Amino acid sequence: MPERKQFVVIGLGRFGGSVCKELVNQGHEVLAMDTDEEKVNIYANIATHAVVANSTDESALKSLGIRNFDNVVVAIGDNIQASILTTLVLKEMGVKNVLVKAKNDYHHKVLEKIGADQIVHPEMDMGRRVAQQMSDEKVIDFIELSDEYSIVELIATAKIEGKTLIDLDIRAKYGVTILAIKKGDDINISPQPDYEICFGDLLIVIGHNKDIRRFEDIAM
Ligand code: ADP
Repeated sequence: MPERKQFVVIGLGRFGGSVCKELVNQGHEVLAMDTDEEKVNIYANIATHAVVANSTDESALKSLGIRNFDNVVVAIGDNIQASILTTLVLKEMGVKNVLVKAKNDYHHKVLEKIGADQIVHPEMDMGRRVAQQMSDEKVIDFIELSDEYSIVELIATAKIEGKTLIDLDIRAKYGVTILAIKKGDDINISPQPDYEICFGDLLIVIGHNKDIRRFEDIAM
């Protein structure tokens, strides 16, 4: 169980709302804030505390004790000005980690300049993810570790069925490592070299993108 932390989520639209719900699911305390009373009423039953407040109002943030929180998520949607001003106030107040949802590249640049600690582009990121997954039917899921390295979940094809990890000699031939193999609900962490792969197994592979692609193209 991760350590219980305290978060503030400002803006309870689709993104902020979903961040808030998941943080609560993960066992954290969340102070949810929005200018819209209806949204706050909905989140009153979900978040630890839910308040109607305008995050651009520095004195309101101070009286809510926001400076005592280490992690604040700014999930204000279309109002870029409010998002920037809020981020500025939070950083001036000394909040350690401010994560902001950016709407476009200009917004991103300004947020970077004023000290936002993390900047996310959920729509753009999800669009890329969907496109990458759709363009390769063997890839079920992936995590980009950097521009060059990833962890990828690949579905075992008929071509690879019945082969053992020794037969495939993956690390030597392709430079990638199989971290785990999933079969239905079962997960086999660091599978034995004599494990025989079945059609439909999910191989969780780590390596350089180029090498993973080579493994997929040649072996699978
Ligand atoms: P999404 O695209 O994630 O659904 P929305 O634009 O629908 O985003 O939601 C943004 C939320 O942020 C809205 O609920 C809005 O009321 C809230 N919001 C906008 N400005 C402020 C502000 N200054 N202080 C607090 N909440 C704000």
